[in-house]
Amino acid sequence: MRVGVLAVQGAVREHLSILSQLGIDGRRVKKVGELSGLSGLILPGGESTTISLLSRGHLLTKVGELVSKGFPVFGTCAGMILLAGEIEGQEDAYVQAIDITVARNASGRQVDSFETMLCVKGVADDFPAVFIRAPYITRIGNGVTVLAKHERAAVMARQGNVLVASFHPELTSDMRIHRYFVEMVKEHEEKEGIL
Ligand code: GLN
Repeated sequence: MRVGVLAVQGAVREHLSILSQLGIDGRRVKKVGELSGLSGLILPGGESTTISLLSRGHLLTKVGELVSKGFPVFGTCAGMILLAGEIEGQEDAYVQAIDITVARNASGRQVDSFETMLCVKGVADDFPAVFIRAPYITRIGNGVTVLAKHERAAVMARQGNVLVASFHPELTSDMRIHRYFVEMVKEHEEKEGIL
């Protein structure tokens, strides 16, 4: 199984390392052509404005087309912002793959970064979550399931083939959330009769 990591900017290497530890063939994706042959895609943390500006060849538009056909995607932090339907205080959103509104930098500045244990539905009672200038989910649309909360804010959610997290599971050695995404990818392949 081949899973791509959007490799424009951000924590790309860390996601690739977890994928390889899970025995998955992880590929860097910088251009539209590199999306072909993939079973799923991870959009990493970094800086969403920078990632969107540097995404050449309508990369994000193509990701949106694939997502609407059921292609599994997982966005962490800036990746979640890129997938959100709406961004507070911003006229335009990017891929708009999941019906949520996000508030950027809601967890504070870089110096306010923190790690906490989260209960993630169906995944773990004790997931170590690292928050760095993290977005919080401020509106949950119909059909979206909240998978984790920090204090009152929703910080992880899923709508069908789209998974998003405010924090960085790739910055810890805990691979359970990546394993959960790999299961989503497998289910999709089975449904499509690819496996
Ligand atoms: N605050 C960043 C943004 O708005 C996201 C931070 C992160 O990915 N760690 O894109």
